[in-house]
Amino acid sequence: MERLRIPSLPILGGRMVPLLRHYCVFGTHHPLIQAAGRNQNLNGGCWSVQCTASDSGTSASDVNGARKDFALPDSLLHDARILYCASPAMGHNKESHPESNKRVPAIVDALEKLELTPKHRGSQVLEIQNFYPASLDDVARVHSRTYISGLEKAMSRASDEGLIFIEGTGPTYATHTTFQESLLSAGAGIALVDSVVAASKLGPSPPLGFALVRPPGHHAVPKGPMGFCVFGNIAVAARYAQHQHGLKRVMIIDFDVHHGNGTCDAFYDDPDIFFLSTHQLGSYPGTGKMDLVGQGSGEGTTLNLPLPGGSGDYSMRCAFDEVVVPSVQRFKPDIILVSAGYDAHVLDPLAGLQFTTGTFYMLASSIKELARELCGGRCVFFLEGGYNLQSLSSSVADTFHAFLDEPSLAAQFDDPAVLYEEPTQRIKAAIEKVRHLHSL
Ligand SMILES: [Zn+2]
Repeated sequence: MERLRIPSLPILGGRMVPLLRHYCVFGTHHPLIQAAGRNQNLNGGCWSVQCTASDSGTSASDVNGARKDFALPDSLLHDARILYCASPAMGHNKESHPESNKRVPAIVDALEKLELTPKHRGSQVLEIQNFYPASLDDVARVHSRTYISGLEKAMSRASDEGLIFIEGTGPTYATHTTFQESLLSAGAGIALVDSVVAASKLGPSPPLGFALVRPPGHHAVPKGPMGFCVFGNIAVAARYAQHQHGLKRVMIIDFDVHHGNGTCDAFYDDPDIFFLSTHQLGSYPGTGKMDLVGQGSGEGTTLNLPLPGGSGDYSMRCAFDEVVVPSVQRFKPDIILVSAGYDAHVLDPLAGLQFTTGTFYMLASSIKELARELCGGRCVFFLEGGYNLQSLSSSVADTFHAFLDEPSLAAQFDDPAVLYEEPTQRIKAAIEKVRHLHSL
């Protein structure tokens, strides 16, 4: 299997050690854990746990002869309520670009301030570090080999020029680290799928996963990058869940303000992957019309619900109860993956919806309940958009509160004075139309 080696991979004696995987996990006191040196994580010092495939005792069977997965040991998974990975892609950055390398550190800072990190939460909240990048084979289940190798080759030009544009809409830029950092972000999702699946074998309420990653992924189409996105992190994870864990039916809920056209394209004719997107009507990239419902055997497993500009908390609650819930209940997924974009927030500069921190808390809490009801609690969130660092970080923090079944702190962050009346009649009409189209 092709695998890119990067400096942060576990190295022992100058070589990568087969079947030995290191994780840095904060705040646990598991006997397997031993003090380790400082690593490159944003949070500073860490504890490291070493485990082999046989240690973990939770590795899923290797369905198609591919690699073994390496989930965290059962003893760690048992107590965890949240697992997260951070892949901030610090080298992938462009000055003054909204999709900047400030985004993930801003989220991690907010988690720290609100005492939602492993340092404060012990074994409840675990950060998986030093996860592997996705392999080229993992990515090639979604993207063409021509695109993948072309991007890798473009890195030398990016190195010479400092920054290049790899796609015209957005526009989407790359630096010399973009290829490696994008593989690492896709790998974060894979690591979380491995551990969430393993945990779901231990009990009915496994931890929720959150991949705090960038560049985002849901606009990246099978043949190339698009709209700030390089590799479809969530699409790669969906295929991986099927291939590695035999989870046949994957539900993808995308509540980013923009239509996840890349994910939609990747699975448009696939009956086993249900792609459901809410997005602002008429926003970038202009795809995601309601009457596009999938094709061939995949007809009916794509649901697009464009929301009129100005839609907010009321709209999304109605859409969730009347469209999302019956769709997921009917599909009966084996795992739910979520394209969690926070750019529908009223303060976000790139769009015109009126979600609040409280809306994102509601979404996280409701999706968690759906996952517990329908698919053994298996659920992983993937960061997509969100460009106001303040609303992005407080909304992700409140997502964590929802995962922990703790009260929302939205009242501290949301200012009702900035909200205006939602276009309720147009929203009701859109919901009625999509329910009719999908026989919900
Ligand atoms: Zn977006």
